[in-house]
Amino acid sequence: MWSAANDVVRTFLAPVCVGCEAVLDRPLSGAVCDACWRAVVRITPPLCVICGDALPATQDVCARCTASPPHFTLARSAGLYDGCFRNVIHAFKYNGRRPLAGPIARLMMDVGADVLDDVDAVVPVPLHPWRAFRRGFNQADDLAVCFGLPVWRALRRSRNGPPQASLPASDRGTNVGGAFSCRSMFGWSSPWWARRLEGRSIVLVDDVMTTGATLDACSAALVAAGVRNVRALTAARAVTVRPVPRLGPHRRATALR
Ligand SMILES: [Zn+2]
Ligand SMILES: [Zn+2]
Repeated sequence: MWSAANDVVRTFLAPVCVGCEAVLDRPLSGAVCDACWRAVVRITPPLCVICGDALPATQDVCARCTASPPHFTLARSAGLYDGCFRNVIHAFKYNGRRPLAGPIARLMMDVGADVLDDVDAVVPVPLHPWRAFRRGFNQADDLAVCFGLPVWRALRRSRNGPPQASLPASDRGTNVGGAFSCRSMFGWSSPWWARRLEGRSIVLVDDVMTTGATLDACSAALVAAGVRNVRALTAARAVTVRPVPRLGPHRRATALR
């Protein structure tokens, strides 16, 4: 019955995968084909023990974390921000494909068991309220609620600079520095959050990590509020040195584009 329904939808509507644009075999099972999920490139060692950036050779800490240690202790990502997975993230974030949050979060949980181990709560990286209003949702929040852990919306973004993706790496820290706080939307500090966050272990959740500037700014705000340990887990990651991907399914050429 389910198979027949898939056949009908595929024949008459021919919906395509948001990752590779191939017609979906089982369109009722989701907007991404199995090959695209399998093609997500994992970021494998050697990688920075702090931020998870891929490293060119066996070393413990990347140059960025050495020069300016971040306020988070550990950051990991489900896969490389490239190819099909980049298209999937775009569809989720910009084209309103919110049901993708579930399968993306499952990938994050597969990779991020160490990050999520023994934490008190997950905190989604907030959008500025105006951007959240225009988008209609916060993609980080949609991912955070999928982990089955308490979700604490403890952070506010008080400054709405240009999107990080539009800036060179050197400007990203300045763009988000001081933009986040544990204050309320109207600017007063929240003693309720201060009591709740004191001594806790928190995982920040976001869709994409590039330089880590946004996660560091959020972590600084959480540490200032008394959090003992901040880790971070993102869906995708742009890396400094590209890892060698596993050989995989039919859309490998697209994944490597
Ligand atoms: Zn696909
Ligand atoms: Zn690093």
